Amino acid sequence: MHAPSLSDRSIEAYDAVTDRDRLERLRSLADALADVRILHVNSTATGGGVAELLRSIVPVCNDLGVDTDWLVMDADDDFFAVTKAMHNGLQGSGEPLTEEMKATYHEVSARNATEIEADYDLVVAHDPQPLGMLERLAERLPEAPIVWRCHVDLTEPVDEHLAFVSANADPIDHAIFSRSAYAAIDTPKTSIVHPSIDPLTEKNRSLDEGELAAERDRLDPLSFDAPVVTQVSRFDPWKDQFGTLEAYRRARETVTGLQLALVGGMAGDDPEGLELYEQVAGEAVEDPDVHVLTDLPDTTVNALQRLSDVVVQKSLREGFGLVVSEALWKRTPVVGSTAGGIPLQIVDGHNGYLVEPDDATGAGDRLVDLLEHEERRRRFGESAREHVRERFLLPRQLADLLEIFADELGLES
Ligand code: UDP
Repeated sequence: MHAPSLSDRSIEAYDAVTDRDRLERLRSLADALADVRILHVNSTATGGGVAELLRSIVPVCNDLGVDTDWLVMDADDDFFAVTKAMHNGLQGSGEPLTEEMKATYHEVSARNATEIEADYDLVVAHDPQPLGMLERLAERLPEAPIVWRCHVDLTEPVDEHLAFVSANADPIDHAIFSRSAYAAIDTPKTSIVHPSIDPLTEKNRSLDEGELAAERDRLDPLSFDAPVVTQVSRFDPWKDQFGTLEAYRRARETVTGLQLALVGGMAGDDPEGLELYEQVAGEAVEDPDVHVLTDLPDTTVNALQRLSDVVVQKSLREGFGLVVSEALWKRTPVVGSTAGGIPLQIVDGHNGYLVEPDDATGAGDRLVDLLEHEERRRRFGESAREHVRERFLLPRQLADLLEIFADELGLES
């Protein structure tokens, strides 16, 4: 296991973006947890929504006085091939797990579990990757409740994969899902907590005109003198970059000069990423107005989400889809599919549009609708900001989580 290096964060800084009552609730929960030590465990320090969340909430918890550690599993590609198959299986289509794959999973899990030597009062495991560690952790820390924070879409899991995960779920005391429809694993307690974005990160903080101008230059030959539509997501079949290309091609029949930016990273625990990236880049090579951009710095992703006329998220399956709130927070309307948590974020006809996950034509038509109506984009953008401020900023999610931790530990807040 290793502890990622984290920058300091101060809860004070959230005063500017959240109402006072919410921050006071957070402080009172933190006071209740002042004497406990909490461990978060996951399988990657960078890439994807879980790492993004932990990078913010771990330092903020420490600033609030809640002693919180984050440890990342040490694992190799063989392990990640297994956990990727599990992840896909839980979302509806994964290759079967062979006995050899299960053995790899258990061996890596056991090795990582024995490396945790400190004492903790509560352990939070994120997603299916660390589940194999929990039995050993529960033996070593018998008093510590184990919370499982599942970020995956579990609406139509493959039975075999669900059974494998369930077989490792016994030590879980409390499971937290992003939507009630995902609560497919039987645990003594279950809660629903919607994810959130951190408005103060490099990805989401406000940018001044000078910074935006510098980012425009950096993004050249993408030009903001013509319309731009952007999708930001890992190269993963569920994110449906090919469907987004189809929607773009349809919209381009009406909107002259339309450009598409497909921004993607490869998460450290996702071996399929490179292969898909090559397929998408291959499709795009024929069209100079399609820009496939990888490994952009956060400031550039931030600028692109602001400068784009419309953001798209045409996922076929989606846990929550933080990228949707990221764009909405920046007052950019989003055309998204009805997959997973996207409909929680997009209010159809108010801050963007929703289409069925397989409806690339509909997505293209919705893009045209927004690209042709500047005033509508502006109005949607204002509603978008307020929708996210109310529901999907970090202090709200953190308060929900701390409430569950305090409850598990029998502490009054
Ligand atoms: N992300 C990024 N660069 C990329 C692709 C993704 O910074 O090239 C970030 C994105 O901004 C978001 C996170 O990775 O913060 C993805 O979270 P989301 O919930 O949308 O999807 P996940 O990858 O967890 O399925």
